[in-house]
Amino acid sequence: MANKDNLDLPALINQVVGAIESLKNTYGEFEPHESVRSDQARVSEVLKELTDRLEDNFPYFHPNYAAQMLKAPHPVAVAAYLATMMLNPNNHSIDASPATTQMERDVLKQMAAMFEYPEEFLGHLTWSGTTANLEALWIARELQPTKKIAHSADAHYTHSRMSEVLGTTNVSIPTEADGRMSMEALVVELKKGDIGTIVATMGTTGLGAVDPLADIIALARKYDARVHVDTAYGGFFKLIAENHLEPETARHYAALKDADSIVVDPHKHGLQPYGSGAVFFKDLSIGKFYKHDSPYTYFISDDLHFGEIQLECSRAGASAAAIWATLQIFPLTEQGLGSVLIPTRNAAKNWHELLLTSDSLMPYQKPELDILTYLPRVDSLSKLDYVSHEILVQAGAGSREQQIHLATYVVKPEQLQARGISLNEDATNARVLRSVLMKPEHETWVPTLHNRVQEIARKLIR
Ligand SMILES: *Cc1c(COP(=O)(O)O)cnc(C)c1O
Repeated sequence: MANKDNLDLPALINQVVGAIESLKNTYGEFEPHESVRSDQARVSEVLKELTDRLEDNFPYFHPNYAAQMLKAPHPVAVAAYLATMMLNPNNHSIDASPATTQMERDVLKQMAAMFEYPEEFLGHLTWSGTTANLEALWIARELQPTKKIAHSADAHYTHSRMSEVLGTTNVSIPTEADGRMSMEALVVELKKGDIGTIVATMGTTGLGAVDPLADIIALARKYDARVHVDTAYGGFFKLIAENHLEPETARHYAALKDADSIVVDPHKHGLQPYGSGAVFFKDLSIGKFYKHDSPYTYFISDDLHFGEIQLECSRAGASAAAIWATLQIFPLTEQGLGSVLIPTRNAAKNWHELLLTSDSLMPYQKPELDILTYLPRVDSLSKLDYVSHEILVQAGAGSREQQIHLATYVVKPEQLQARGISLNEDATNARVLRSVLMKPEHETWVPTLHNRVQEIARKLIR
């Protein structure tokens, strides 16, 4: 059945809503207060209006959506989140979330094992990759208050923004033609002696490039710096690195175990709804920086509460439950969640192949994960910018079933030249096309996407 999941989501929703209602009933009946009573028909009307208003969206769940980092969560996560949200546990404290704190511990263990981290680590889920990275950079500042934080020019802007928040100085290291951090430029900075932490990105947001972590760690040891790895996007590719990524990329994934801290977003490649990041620290002693003593926290057990080792306070137990349930169905193995990632990687590889021989399109660079950048074959920067944008507009037009949604990415002439693409420099920069192929359905969808985009490109550059 087209567009239909093989799961019966309404049946699963019924199951969990029914179970939670029964659970509530075991505590004895009470009348909800008048102030929160509402009219069933009116609520239904509002929800109807809601679903109508949700028409105003792009089809993030559909393989014709090959634009930004967006996709729908798996039904198991939807049902688990909804069930848990009805009770609304708060993973800030064990007392506010006995069941879901334990689930969070379970999933953290599984994720840490995926990174080959030691069994003893400090870590927790977060609302997002931004807060997870903020926390890692905060610890970096606490450990080395006078030193700088280095990251690649292609690192997520959250790192420079959070450096500002933290009052640290950040240094942007240029990238090479493959989008990876330049080791030469990094050494120049390290030699100055004031870099305390290097941020490596595995799966840059723009290009999906993987910084050379193994080499960065070797340099960091030599120059006495720490290494934080932002795998918000690319972390789960660790599951398939050895058998399905380039050997050089796999070598850097294998070095994750040596990083001082790691961030990963289950709401990117972990089949989760938004509100799902995670941070891991190898050195347990950094726990001391979280110390607080407020009269209104309510820790009554001796076990560590997540609230004692996180910057955020309230945090959805539902989020932990959703990941926990998802990992029961898709364990963190190559055959489990890895089998969802392999086809996304194949999609990028296959489309790249098609672009190499196209008469009207070409790749911007070889994809390292599942993010593909490409451009129309034109002779000037201004034309490149115009045609790229026009392709995006025309592909997204027409009936819903015809629409193909793409994204653009701004490049500079020297970045094109570094990739062997020389154009008439009649503009300071230009947009190229970018597709995040993060849905496994993209694997079989690539020829359709390619043919359609090529057809539009041909007409525009003729
Ligand atoms: C998405 C992303 C972030 C930001 O994470 P959010 O979950 O959006 O807050 C940071 N770094 C990288 C590499 C990302 O892809």
